[in-house]
Amino acid sequence: MMRLPGFRYRAPRTVADAAAWLAENPADTMLLAGGTDLLPNMKRRQQTPGTLIGLRAIRELTEISSGDGLDGLDGLTIGAAVTLSTLVSHPDIRQNYPGLYQAAAQVATPHLRNMGTIGGNLCLDTRCTYYDQTYQWRKAIDFCMKKDGDTCWVATSSPRCLAVSSTDTAPILQALGASVTLQSTRGARVVALADLYANDGMHYLTRQPDEILTKVTLPAMDGAGWRSAYWKLRRRGSFDFPVAAAAVAAQFDGPEIVDVRVVLGAVASRPVASDQAAAVLRGNRLTDDLIAEASAVGADVARPMDNTDFELVWRKSMVRTLIASALCEIRGDDMRARRRQIARQELLLTSRSA
Ligand SMILES: Cc1cc2nc3c(=O)[nH]c(=O)nc-3n(C[C@H](O)[C@H](O)[C@H](O)COP(=O)(O)OP(=O)(O)OC[C@H]3O[C@@H](n4cnc5c(N)ncnc54)[C@H](O)[C@@H]3O)c2cc1C
Ligand code: SF4
Repeated sequence: MMRLPGFRYRAPRTVADAAAWLAENPADTMLLAGGTDLLPNMKRRQQTPGTLIGLRAIRELTEISSGDGLDGLDGLTIGAAVTLSTLVSHPDIRQNYPGLYQAAAQVATPHLRNMGTIGGNLCLDTRCTYYDQTYQWRKAIDFCMKKDGDTCWVATSSPRCLAVSSTDTAPILQALGASVTLQSTRGARVVALADLYANDGMHYLTRQPDEILTKVTLPAMDGAGWRSAYWKLRRRGSFDFPVAAAAVAAQFDGPEIVDVRVVLGAVASRPVASDQAAAVLRGNRLTDDLIAEASAVGADVARPMDNTDFELVWRKSMVRTLIASALCEIRGDDMRARRRQIARQELLLTSRSA
């Protein structure tokens, strides 16, 4: 049985206290929300903070409210410690942000969603076959650059870590135009979600070590013609990290797309927007030909590496299918058969490799 290393635990009741305690020693302190990512990582000695600051007792972080008015975004404000279960049961999410509902509802299992939070999901550690292993396994390969070693075993000449962004909610929140608030003793700053991430498996967040992600703010989308969808590829349909994903949010004026964002997940160390796919779609109707063209162009920006589940070539080829599926869904197609078909393919590949 893997045991947690020793650590000091502190449980603030206000964001101000949390920020002050974090500022005391940011290099050796980590924030603990649901712990569904951080605690297993600590057991594997991937992350070894001396102090954990628990966020669950800070009431203002557990609330969802409407009409924040933040930076012109007057939709929904979601506290960082809102659990994914709470998020998916919120009526506004399912009604106005269906893509976010789909993404959050597909994270892990019901038990993990009861504990896991939106803030923790956005700050989720990047993943890699050579990293998500026990300490002894990693020691046997002389560790790797992301923790305790010098070499990247995925690409030995790579100067940077290529671990994969594996958060389900970040791609769709980016597509929906969300912002996040980062709070420290120096004050608060609001950044577009796209700017929270860097394409570096070790330094995948632009968040400073002394900053707390306090809330996610979404623009108002009800009655404005917006539709959204999220499709992911994973080994076990009931609970697994994405190994490729497509998030689409589009605003329609009648049958015509007037604004659109296409964002891919799990194909790099950060969510990747395809401006080219958006350019193909904007100003047009979602015909079969347009969907085929946009998904081919969109899949072009995916450069996944061979460091997560499934065979690389198949995984890359599925990006196109995922984008096309998301576009068909926002067009209003009945996608139940396509979902079953992808699940069958996942199952088939799982039983072949077992
Ligand atoms: C079996 C299994 C399957 C899983 N499947 C999926 C999946 O399909 N999709 C998926 O996306 N995830 C998956 N996860 C990962 C995890 O359960 C979720 O991402 C969850 O939402 C993480 O949230 P948390 O609150 O538990 O984060 P924690 O574990 O508490 O924290 C995760 C990271 O975020 C940081 N953090 C937390 N809150 C904040 C904050 N407010 N400000 C700044 N930093 C913060 C922590 O310091 C830590 O680095 C899976 C996990 C397991 C064990
Ligand atoms: S991509 Fe390379 S450095 Fe990063 S975790 Fe994997 S093996 Fe380690």
